[in-house]
Amino acid sequence: MQTLYSKVKNVMDFSFTEEQELFRKAVREWCAKNLPLEKVREIDTKQSVPDEITKGMADLGLWLMTVPEEHGGAGADWVTACIAAEELAYADITIAIPVHFLVESSWGFVADRYCTERVREEAIRPAIKGEAFVGIATTESGGGSDVAAFKSTARKEGNEWIVNGEKMYISGTEEALKLGGGYWITARTAPAPAGAPHKGMTSFYLPIKAPGVEVTKRFDDMGRMGISTGGFSMKDVRLPNDYLMGEEGKGFYMTMEGFDLARLLIGATSIGCAQRALEIGMEYIKERKAFGRPIGKFEGIQFELADNWAKLEALRSLVYRTAWMADERYKRKRFTSLEVVKYISAVKLLGPHLALDIFRDAMLWLGAWGYTKECPLEMGLRGIMSYCVGAEGAKNIQRIVIARELLGKEFIPYK
Ligand SMILES: Cc1cc2nc3c(=O)[nH]c(=O)nc-3n(C[C@H](O)[C@H](O)[C@H](O)COP(=O)(O)OP(=O)(O)OC[C@H]3O[C@@H](n4cnc5c(N)ncnc54)[C@H](O)[C@@H]3O)c2cc1C
Repeated sequence: MQTLYSKVKNVMDFSFTEEQELFRKAVREWCAKNLPLEKVREIDTKQSVPDEITKGMADLGLWLMTVPEEHGGAGADWVTACIAAEELAYADITIAIPVHFLVESSWGFVADRYCTERVREEAIRPAIKGEAFVGIATTESGGGSDVAAFKSTARKEGNEWIVNGEKMYISGTEEALKLGGGYWITARTAPAPAGAPHKGMTSFYLPIKAPGVEVTKRFDDMGRMGISTGGFSMKDVRLPNDYLMGEEGKGFYMTMEGFDLARLLIGATSIGCAQRALEIGMEYIKERKAFGRPIGKFEGIQFELADNWAKLEALRSLVYRTAWMADERYKRKRFTSLEVVKYISAVKLLGPHLALDIFRDAMLWLGAWGYTKECPLEMGLRGIMSYCVGAEGAKNIQRIVIARELLGKEFIPYK
């Protein structure tokens, strides 16, 4: 008899492919060999990543791995990029290296998608080899959440654009100076009509060493010390028309695409470092004795462990389901960007804060030792805090995006 159930042909399958499992194993083994926690501490203290790590990641094909093969990348899908982010963060709990990885894999992907062959040759291909940095610079000293409220301008003169302004709180300024490469920037090319500040916003590729660009600031951050945060000014910088990204005036939409993909990889990064924190904590509570027994025997500790594990597994499911949606969007146009963005904002809303909670709880289990720099956990807590305060989009902005998608555009609070 033909039942309703027997007509269901495709059973849902949550497993990774064999290739993805092998890839995870390879990245984990490389990390275990090259990024033990002592090395991570050294990177945190010296505030830079050794060249051999950058080169090793290039040899593994990790830099800008999402760029299509015909443009020199590995053509990785978003699920696989999430696996890489997760494994890198499991090793480098300060998340400096994962940040470098995720910025390049998301913004490098979007840059490659909209750039000219010239930018591909000058920036994308070298960055894939670990020989250039491709980052994002939208934030200005006046604010970051209100992406369209920037002051930088670009005006056309013949076949060139003259760019003026400044960008602040920008990841990787020192790395870009060292390696070369540059940034996806936004500049106003036309006045915004009333009520539509995102219009007239154009994106460009800005080489960090272009005449007129000056790195003016390196912040003394609290965490993720292996990647710098700085600021730069742009004074009458002449950019050839070849450095225009996509279409003039359409910068807002392309920039949002970059943010979405970066936020997805931040979710995977949050899982990786939180998983490691949980494991460090579990090892300790099984060993440490108080009142004649391991503290892991006390319900007060067990309940926190169980809660954190359950939340972490929920986050893992959300992140990989969202990565799958992103893949379906790019490969089969199955979802629209707005359908995916709601999930991506949920990932960014929850991920870093859950990781922060897990680091904090694990540190508390470790007692006084957790508060010392002999223990690795404090590095992770300092690092993940960067995504809690708002790098790649503050918490409330994710809430606004989700509410907009749930209630409708007429409920956007700032309009
Ligand atoms: C370590 C680090 C690295 C960074 N790297 C980069 C980079 O590479 N490139 C780049 O362009 N930027 C970068 N940033 C900047 C980052 O994107 C901004 O910090 C972020 O967009 C928030 O902007 P803001 O700091 O100006 O905070 P603001 O926009 O001033 O927000 C401050 C607070 O107000 C809240 N808020 C704002 N608007 C609303 C609202 N409508 N409703 C309710 N609450 C609201 C926010 O949630 C936040 O808590 C980085 C930041 C950090 C910390």
